[in-house]
Amino acid sequence: MIRVAVVGAAGRMGREVLRAVGEAPDMALVAAVDRVEIGADAGALADGKPSGLPIVADLRAALRETGAQALVDFTVPASALANLRIAAECGVRPVVGTTGLTEADLGQAAEWLRDAGLGGVVAPNFAIGAVLMMRFAAQAARYLPDAEIIELHHERKLDSPSGTALATARAIAEARVEPPLPAPDGTVEKAPGARGAVAGDVHIHSVRLPGLVAHQEVLFGGPGQTLSIRHDSTDRRSFMPGVLLAVRKVMELNELVVGLDRLL
Ligand code: NAD
Repeated sequence: MIRVAVVGAAGRMGREVLRAVGEAPDMALVAAVDRVEIGADAGALADGKPSGLPIVADLRAALRETGAQALVDFTVPASALANLRIAAECGVRPVVGTTGLTEADLGQAAEWLRDAGLGGVVAPNFAIGAVLMMRFAAQAARYLPDAEIIELHHERKLDSPSGTALATARAIAEARVEPPLPAPDGTVEKAPGARGAVAGDVHIHSVRLPGLVAHQEVLFGGPGQTLSIRHDSTDRRSFMPGVLLAVRKVMELNELVVGLDRLL
């Protein structure tokens, strides 16, 4: 049994993780940490069935007292790096789903884990379908270098563009054989940002609306043709097989792995 702690346990993703870990036959949920809902029953929060495990506030104490082996983090970017450091110091392997970590953050995290001799996983998207969407987009970019990304999320998402969109843009930029077409001379943005953000020469458009969960469409254009590759997470359960896979794999890793695709 893998002893799993969850931080951000009272959040939307955290509650799903509590339920998924609770149902996994090879995992034991040993700690649920958040800075809200302290003292609430984790099982009751997850699926309405009391489990006797209360939400606690002190991550370091929770990891030390429960002998946790893996820590799943779905919090906020400002907290995730500090939580990862605490995990490394406690000899616990982190699985981080929180998005918005920078390249510098990832470099720092890799160093802490190397010093501690531990494996870790950071993945901007744990939905297997989204990982496939990114792979297919990279394949298409070899033949169709002109691409734009539209990512759509619920209105409470803090970071934009999404980590998935940035990772997709990076994958497209790396896979291209030919450069994309330059913008024509005299191009004017009448409303600033109308053409979206640009990462790796790929335009990214972020939509935030209630009713959405996590969606992304990658559009490619070539002479006389377009290609659209789209993935929709319509429920947060879509991320759970990937999270459980990462928890299992992280027990065998001895370095930081970024992206679920490297575990498939
Ligand atoms: P949420 O706001 O519902 O939950 C975040 C929780 O973290 C809150 O309960 C908050 O109190 C808690 N928290 C924040 N800082 C903390 C700290 N230092 N210690 C303890 N608890 C802390 O957010 P959400 O919708 O669950 O999303 C969480 C993160 O997961 C976001 O970064 C989001 O982009 C990301 N996300 C990733 C994936 C993926 O597949 N990787 C999928 C969906 C969401």
